Amino acid sequence: MTKYIFFTGGVVSSVGKGVTAAAVGRILKARGISVTVQKLDPYINVDPGTMSPYQHGEVFVTEDGAETDLDLGHYERFIDVNLSQDSNVTTGRVYAEVIAKERRGDYLGGTIQVIPHITNEIKRYIRAVAESSQADVVIVEVGGTVGDIESLPFMEALRQMRSDIGPENTFYVHVTFLPYIAASRELKTKPTQHSVRELRGIGIHPNAIIARADHDIPHEHIEKIALFCDVESRAVIPVATSDVLYNIPLQLEDSGLGDYIVESLGLVGAEPDLSEWTAMIEEIRKPKPSIRIGIVGKYVELHDAYMSVRESLYHAGISNHRQVEVVWIHSGDLEKGKGWEEFESLDGVVVPGGFGYRGIEGKIVAARWARQYEVPYLGLCLGMQVMCIEITRHIIGSDEPNSTEFDAKTSYPVISLMPDQHGLADMGGTMRLGIYPCDLQEGTLAAKAYGKSRVSERHRHRWEFNNAYRDLLSEHGMVYSGLSPDDRLVEIAELKDHPFMLGCQFHPEFKSRPNHPHPLFDAFLNAAVEHQGRRNGRPNNIEVAHKVTKNDQGQQPISEQVNSSGKHKSDGARERSPAA
Ligand code: GLN
Repeated sequence: MTKYIFFTGGVVSSVGKGVTAAAVGRILKARGISVTVQKLDPYINVDPGTMSPYQHGEVFVTEDGAETDLDLGHYERFIDVNLSQDSNVTTGRVYAEVIAKERRGDYLGGTIQVIPHITNEIKRYIRAVAESSQADVVIVEVGGTVGDIESLPFMEALRQMRSDIGPENTFYVHVTFLPYIAASRELKTKPTQHSVRELRGIGIHPNAIIARADHDIPHEHIEKIALFCDVESRAVIPVATSDVLYNIPLQLEDSGLGDYIVESLGLVGAEPDLSEWTAMIEEIRKPKPSIRIGIVGKYVELHDAYMSVRESLYHAGISNHRQVEVVWIHSGDLEKGKGWEEFESLDGVVVPGGFGYRGIEGKIVAARWARQYEVPYLGLCLGMQVMCIEITRHIIGSDEPNSTEFDAKTSYPVISLMPDQHGLADMGGTMRLGIYPCDLQEGTLAAKAYGKSRVSERHRHRWEFNNAYRDLLSEHGMVYSGLSPDDRLVEIAELKDHPFMLGCQFHPEFKSRPNHPHPLFDAFLNAAVEHQGRRNGRPNNIEVAHKVTKNDQGQQPISEQVNSSGKHKSDGARERSPAA
């Protein structure tokens, strides 16, 4: 019988409910119990794929190509599992399914209602993930906080699960927050009490309460929450904000939550073995030299938009014994000649994925800088496309080369639309999504990094490297180190005669784990460490910043190219891309 742990949130959002759910997964896995996780999102989008990063943060892509909530990234990183499209269900998806069934006549003339039709559909999704994963325990997290109108059907479905399969198979965790009042220097439990009351009003009595706070939580607060919320005091788990995100499983284990869950659900588990995880935390905490890596993007004010990229850099920092200091660089600023002073002390540059024209020219100049001054560069999806556009502009001596995403009429479409993307009307779920195999060419940086000849990586894009440019670029040092098995698609490109300039058409950041850094991030960071050694405290040359040009020969500043007309000629093209 599958056991279920349901996570709900109270008081405020953004207190780390996803991380906490992921951490519970890790402490159960440490007992040899198999775990999977599912996120139920109350918004009406069918999936987050069409949402702007400003709304939603990163879109996390699973092996089977589902565009999902970024909490799935936490689950995969903490538990080291590969999740699937069953692991993220939204209100939109539930309704779309129910409405499709109604249209087919599946309900035999019935009136379709939230209860039971929507709640049954939600429960069907919950059971589906249990079935497809065959896990001992399914952790289900509901997005938002109790009291939200839109999460009510999900809460009701969770409530029904207890009577459907019995209290011995269900465990409800409510994650709340204790605000700190500076004037009286104390944490407050009242919002937690109210939140639990709200939850009980829906008919869910929590088995455990995880109380998050930015300060240490005194024991009397635990007793108070236990008393007012009618749970055992050992079921109130204090989780003060940790200096290290990956420490949360150890905090939960120390508080006895693992044993409490195992006991309550009658699970059979081994003694918890968190030795590898503990060693990793010790390694993270060791004082070590820092290394500065710039992430050049257009959503940098919102770090969640690059969550997996940032985490992957930290993971590679652990294996390279470096404290990674991420420097957030706004590509739009670079276009205006601003933000370049940061480049003096960068040891590496990452250009992550993205859509739409805004900020592209800044990313291109960042790639140019990395190429000219031999600073390690890692291009992720759009970052690879940018690297190819940049070198083509350099070869041709013109700013014309582009992706048809940004300039539909360019005479040099070095990045062009994949044939199967032509004429698509729907934006949702229609990109090249999920894992594809990639063959590595011997003797390349990529092959050395991976140490094998075939890998599979996760994609999320519409555009590709245009094969008509293969010869031209390879004459100028480009090596196609990763190709699709049929040789048709360039998946990894890297520059010869450069310490590390590599771009991949896929998103390696979705496969990195704190205890298994992704080979490309690992190799990139290793190159950054070498660059740091070569620099030996001296500032990088940032000359290029002062002649921010379309090409190495040209004189016109990027800011003028982009702003003189107020609008780039291809602005219309971005309308077809999500999240521009
Ligand atoms: N906009 C580019 C494309 O669709 C890159 C996408 C990405 O970086 N994920 O091909």
